[in-house]
Amino acid sequence: MHRLGTIAVHGGQSDDPITKARAVPIYQTTSYLFDSTEHAANLFALKDTGNIYTRIMNPTSDVLEKRVAQLEGGKAGLAVASGMAAITLSILNIAEPGDEIVSSSQLYGGTYTLFSSTLAKMGIKVHLVDSTDPDNFSAHVSDKTKAFFGETIGNPSLDVFDVERISELAHDAGVPLIVDNTAATPILCRPIDYGADVVVNSLTKFMGGHGTSIGGLIVDAATFDWTNGKFHDLTEPDATYNGLVYTDAFGWLAYLVKARVHLLRDMGPALSPFNAFLTLQGLESLHLRMARHSENALHVAKFLSDHEGVEWVSYPGLESHRSYALAQKYLPKGASALVGFGVKGGYEAAVKFIEHVKLFSHLANIGDAKSLVVHPASTTHQQLSPQERALAGVSDDFVRLSVGIEDIEDIIEDIDQALACTS
Ligand SMILES: *Cc1c(COP(=O)(O)O)cnc(C)c1O
Repeated sequence: MHRLGTIAVHGGQSDDPITKARAVPIYQTTSYLFDSTEHAANLFALKDTGNIYTRIMNPTSDVLEKRVAQLEGGKAGLAVASGMAAITLSILNIAEPGDEIVSSSQLYGGTYTLFSSTLAKMGIKVHLVDSTDPDNFSAHVSDKTKAFFGETIGNPSLDVFDVERISELAHDAGVPLIVDNTAATPILCRPIDYGADVVVNSLTKFMGGHGTSIGGLIVDAATFDWTNGKFHDLTEPDATYNGLVYTDAFGWLAYLVKARVHLLRDMGPALSPFNAFLTLQGLESLHLRMARHSENALHVAKFLSDHEGVEWVSYPGLESHRSYALAQKYLPKGASALVGFGVKGGYEAAVKFIEHVKLFSHLANIGDAKSLVVHPASTTHQQLSPQERALAGVSDDFVRLSVGIEDIEDIIEDIDQALACTS
């Protein structure tokens, strides 16, 4: 197996025998010809593998799935329409009404409402716990628990998830650990190396890297034993495939195959082949960009720490961060692009900062090559009461940066001039 930078450029692609195309072709097709009625019947019965319909598989997405799976150190991948679709399917694949999940409470906003509202309405109870004490996960285990969940770098506090310890606790409970690795990407951290069983990514962020395409991907480490008696959907006959049993037919890959052929078939959040292509373009420079994002972000974090207009700075690569020791372990190559800080002067000063940046783009996204900024209290978290905002770790003075890959001198100059306007 090649090293990460080489996988980012080549992973999953084999030479096209017919056209000799060097780039990965965009297979902009909905469906694929059957050789015969027997071939068609075998494909539909999952006795043969092959392309049927782009909702379930596509040759461009296939390269992307293999490339991200290789980067993450997993065995197989499933591309879907968005990061949220990846997270939703990763849970629905093993949980049904009455089941429970234990998750870190430090979550991306969409994941937070998926867990606290949408899954709750579907009868799946998600216990949200403080992941900085891993024992909180074990404390919420019951015989209905189906998975543990967390983000490599949690939102918005940027706490680093103790993947190794929490995966041990998950396995003690007989359940898989699912990790959202969007903020770190496999270039900076591979959760599977520390025991995670399933990794989900929003391709929309660093992987695509240029703010052009929404997408998501599930990677299966194929290390979890689904036959331990807890996962009936994987070990009992699926009536919609003539009584096929996933663990019998697909062994360690039962989880990923079921997510594709059952959930993607029925729920349908497929990735478009064009977005798969754009994401592949982005992946080719992922290793270069993550190094530059991290280098620039550390520089910005240090600059802000020394600035008199700044109240506090949060960056896991700074010794002052409570996750610094975990960052040294899990993110030795860099702590990614996200930096939080408090502007002296509270809400008004934070708003002034946002209004005066010129290079930074004011929007709700992360992971673009461009530098981005958002003031959560006036945007993503404005609907919450001051008490709820405090619980979510969103103070009025809090500004979040996603530091881009521009020249660091220009980034610092922009922050400096905008801070000068806040006092
Ligand atoms: C953006 C994001 C998601 C959701 O991804 P989409 O592609 O926008 O659906 C999930 N988790 C994290 C950590 C994110 O940053």
